[in-house]
Amino acid sequence: MPDALAMVLTGPDRLDPARFAVPGVGADDAVMTVEACGICGTDVEVLSGAIPTRGPVIPGHEAVGRIAAIGPAAAARWGVGVGDRVVVPAEIGCGTCAACAVGAPCPGPVGNHGFVPTATAPGLWGGFAEVMYLAPGSTPLPIATHVEPRTAALFNLLGAGFSWGVGATGLGAGDTLAVFGPGQRGLACVLAARSVGARRVFVTGLGGRDAHRLALAADLGAEVIDVETTDAADWILAATDGAGVDAAVDTTPGAVEPVLDAIRVTRAGGTVVLAGLKGPGRTVPGIATDDLALRRLTVRGVRAVDAAGFRAAIALLESGAVPADRFVTHSFGLTDAATAVHTLVDPTAAAIAVTVVP
Ligand SMILES: [Zn+2]
Ligand SMILES: [Zn+2]
Repeated sequence: MPDALAMVLTGPDRLDPARFAVPGVGADDAVMTVEACGICGTDVEVLSGAIPTRGPVIPGHEAVGRIAAIGPAAAARWGVGVGDRVVVPAEIGCGTCAACAVGAPCPGPVGNHGFVPTATAPGLWGGFAEVMYLAPGSTPLPIATHVEPRTAALFNLLGAGFSWGVGATGLGAGDTLAVFGPGQRGLACVLAARSVGARRVFVTGLGGRDAHRLALAADLGAEVIDVETTDAADWILAATDGAGVDAAVDTTPGAVEPVLDAIRVTRAGGTVVLAGLKGPGRTVPGIATDDLALRRLTVRGVRAVDAAGFRAAIALLESGAVPADRFVTHSFGLTDAATAVHTLVDPTAAAIAVTVVP
């Protein structure tokens, strides 16, 4: 294989093209031809420098591609062969423990795709590249080849929808869910909840800035609440005759009020999932702990995506039930990767999901 083009983060807001030799594979690793790479808020912070990296890296931690070459041990462990399409969760395990041996989440991961420095051989660790290296501790998951690559690149955000909106809440058919925040992951929670038969799903957002996201939420079957004009908690309680919802997920970044609202609208015995980060050291004044105890609420914090979330996301993508053209609003070529990242947070772009397609 000739060398591969990649975009290397060399400083704040600076992605430079560079070529890397494609490594040969041993018994226990692989190389993948990247077909698409999803982008999330983390990429925005990596590009700006808000999340520091240990030297130059090839960003991109939501990659989809085809196995180009693979060693026999890796092929057996991951259950994939040359030509198979895979999605690659970001985390890279140690590659030697019992969990890694069966492709399960490693208790001692060594890094993440998109964050390992290019100085660490073979350099091609990120998804903003024509080729990505899969280490012994990577955990690529097969996805059917009828799922178009940009659609498959939704695996990470949909995985979060299942992990947070369904797994962490215990949501099932007939249940009700309130989702605070209509970003990528809030919308993914809606889709996941509806796919397991949730009876009613409420979504909050800012009627102006989030108009396109709230429109999609409504099309997905959610009841949307514009918090610029409406008190979300009052509205949800009124809509449920005071009963509240079985579970609530706060996905909003920065804002603390939705945490209080999520607690308030959740019925006794229900579950409140905290997913939106508020900033280091930030506290949420006004939480009445007696209220949590007396109403026997479960409050759970979540990060990233668990294995069950990835499995459910892949199954839903393969089923064809994801309106991918509504989610993937933009895609860009590899050398426009910086524009792709900027587009995700450009208010004039009305983006929902953005992909890089090498
Ligand atoms: Zn991400
Ligand atoms: Zn391990």
